[in-house]
Amino acid sequence: MDQDVIVVGGSFAGLSAAMQLSRARKKVLVLDTGMPRNRFTHASHGFPGQDGNSPQAIQTALRAELAVYPSVSFRKDAAVSIAFEGGGFRVSLADGTALTARRVILAYGVSDTLPDLPGLRERWGVSVLHCPYCHGYELDRQAMGVLLRDETALHQAIMLPEWGPTTVFTQGAFKPSDDQVRQLTSRGIKIEETPITELNGAGVTLENVGLADGRNVPLAGLFVAPQTAPACDIAEQLGCAVNDGPTGPYLAVDAMQASSVPGVFAAGDLASPMPNATRAAAAGVMAGVAAHRSLIFDPDLIPAA
Ligand SMILES: Cc1cc2nc3c(=O)[nH]c(=O)nc-3n(C[C@H](O)[C@H](O)[C@H](O)COP(=O)(O)OP(=O)(O)OC[C@H]3O[C@@H](n4cnc5c(N)ncnc54)[C@H](O)[C@@H]3O)c2cc1C
Repeated sequence: MDQDVIVVGGSFAGLSAAMQLSRARKKVLVLDTGMPRNRFTHASHGFPGQDGNSPQAIQTALRAELAVYPSVSFRKDAAVSIAFEGGGFRVSLADGTALTARRVILAYGVSDTLPDLPGLRERWGVSVLHCPYCHGYELDRQAMGVLLRDETALHQAIMLPEWGPTTVFTQGAFKPSDDQVRQLTSRGIKIEETPITELNGAGVTLENVGLADGRNVPLAGLFVAPQTAPACDIAEQLGCAVNDGPTGPYLAVDAMQASSVPGVFAAGDLASPMPNATRAAAAGVMAGVAAHRSLIFDPDLIPAA
């Protein structure tokens, strides 16, 4: 086998997994295409020791720490297919190379599909946001909105007044029940039924949203829940089980981050219903440790192809 472990995806989860493995002197290769989910934001928040730094700066720091360990290597390339082979796995890359490993850790994250509204996409990660814990503080108690498309967004909306005055926009897509209206109004939340037709503001800042009836509602931030999907189909090729999450499917894993397929571990947003960089890193730590342990305690875990 070329490697003890191949890690597919080299961001918060993948690099944290590789750290544990390289500190156990396992031969580990990190494959990465350089597109972490939070790349659209200027400043990432809440990751210990890196609060407020750019995603790029955080990735550089994580890689620099890891690069001192001699048994880890990095490759900027995409894993495109995977097959069981010789008691392990054969991973084929976009450049045509194929590499083998005894275990794989899937940490390739998810991709986001955003609501289709003029002016929304270009503000993603700056003034169009997914998570108040990540970016709510920076809105500095100014007016904020939520696209209220389903129950998930309702939960988020009810929390948001902690960070600033809140309006929910039902967009004609979601009709809150009488109980839900009471919940929202008891938190001081305004309910706007006229659909947003565009987002306005200088550059990527948000100043207001334009409504279908011609009114403008001043807002500094708009929270949306994107639809998510795995960033590639490697887990699907392996037959890994999935769960339904609030924004899309995510891989089913146990407490040790083992997937339903022997020898395959998964961590980060790909295998969690709650996206968060610190949680992804913590899950990566567990996946790295679990993959290492499986090499020791279950060396013949994977049936030969
Ligand atoms: C706009 C935005 C802002 C955010 N801000 C914050 C914040 O401030 N604080 C916070 O805690 N969380 C934040 N998050 C959530 C955070 O980005 C994720 O929880 C975190 O990035 C998940 O880490 P991960 O390692 O699972 O996946 P990712 O960081 O998404 O990394 C996956 C990696 O896998 C690579 N990859 C994909 N497919 C392949 C393949 N086939 N082969 C090889 N490599 C592949 C990608 O290029 C990428 O580098 C934000 C999310 C968004 C969308």
